[in-house]
Amino acid sequence: MSKVANYMGMSIVEPQARIKHLANYGNMIEVDPNMPVQRYFRSGTEILRMANVYLTEGNHENAYILYIKFMTLFIEKIRTHPDYNSVPAAVKQPIRVKLKEIIPVTEKLKDKLLVRYQKEYEQFLANKEAEKARELEREKQRLQQEQKDKSNRGGSMPMGLQVQINSKVQPSAPDLSLLDQVVYPNDFPSGTGGRSNLPSSGLLLPDSDKKPVKPIFDRSQKPSNESSESLLASGSLRTVVIPHNTMSLFLSLASKNTANNVETCGILAGRLAHNRLLITHVIIPKQQGTADSCNTMKEEEIFDVQDQQNLITLGWIHTHPSQTAFLSSVDLHTHCSYQMMMPEAIAIVCAPKYQASGFFCLTPNYGLDYIAQCRQAGFHPHPNDPPLFMDATHIHVDEHLSVEFVDLRR
Ligand SMILES: [Zn+2]
Ligand SMILES: [Zn+2]
Repeated sequence: MSKVANYMGMSIVEPQARIKHLANYGNMIEVDPNMPVQRYFRSGTEILRMANVYLTEGNHENAYILYIKFMTLFIEKIRTHPDYNSVPAAVKQPIRVKLKEIIPVTEKLKDKLLVRYQKEYEQFLANKEAEKARELEREKQRLQQEQKDKSNRGGSMPMGLQVQINSKVQPSAPDLSLLDQVVYPNDFPSGTGGRSNLPSSGLLLPDSDKKPVKPIFDRSQKPSNESSESLLASGSLRTVVIPHNTMSLFLSLASKNTANNVETCGILAGRLAHNRLLITHVIIPKQQGTADSCNTMKEEEIFDVQDQQNLITLGWIHTHPSQTAFLSSVDLHTHCSYQMMMPEAIAIVCAPKYQASGFFCLTPNYGLDYIAQCRQAGFHPHPNDPPLFMDATHIHVDEHLSVEFVDLRR
């Protein structure tokens, strides 16, 4: 019964399979034994923050995926971390409380989604049936017409010609497989007048074009949150919105260090809204910088700010006082921990000497895994083909938004 078809890279199936598809995305979380275990607890807090936003916005699919992710992480995967047993009870306890809260919420979400999927599936099947009936009706009319033409001509016709005519008009069986290219039940209009949106069978009918019509669906007709709902499950990256003044303000706060040829770094933090990740704050922690490195200190102060303002971590920003904008080998490792926790995390590098800024991420299909596996510390060479990092393409620099700075250095 479960029919899987692909349309624009999306797989949409019958209700239980669709739910399973979402859950599979939620389950796709791995615990890296080399990543400090506490990071996962921090990340868990942020997963819930995002899930709650999706829930509030009515984006039930993404909320469901993130709750499943949280449960998979803390019921199962985190226990495989070698340092799990050393995590203080004070850190584990709130997670346990959260788990108790979200298990019933997740069940409820699942039921709600199933009801919706069932409705959509029934509509999909009904539309399919209706189209089949229309095809049959057209075929019947065509045969009747043919019969009428034949009796009008008065019968006898050379055998050869008859065969020729027959082979010309004889349609192949209605090509219902075209319908199977349709995957999203909502692509079908619900009314009866939706014929124009349905793929033509390619039969030569009086009222159809003389050529088979490829199915074309206007996806913009779907409610806008529908397409964004599937975004998380499709594995695409959400857009990170960067207020335009982020770099200039950061550079002015870093100017003293820059003059002394010392790097400055900050944390990009923000919130999720309508499936976009907005940078709202740059937190500048206590730190120790050199000409080509910068280490954050007192991380708990960063977390305090984030918890007070309900912020999620979206990456980091740092200066290259005398070099161009790129990611050094140490930067690649720093960024790896950000991107492992948040696939959309970006690294902004400001190179004032060259009046340039770079927006980078590790190549998701290669660099991320490569650096996660690399056990070397300090500056060390990496092969650069295939590329380990790239210009982030999922960013948008916004001219109207502005960013807030939290300077914890003094
Ligand atoms: Zn750097
Ligand atoms: Zn390395």
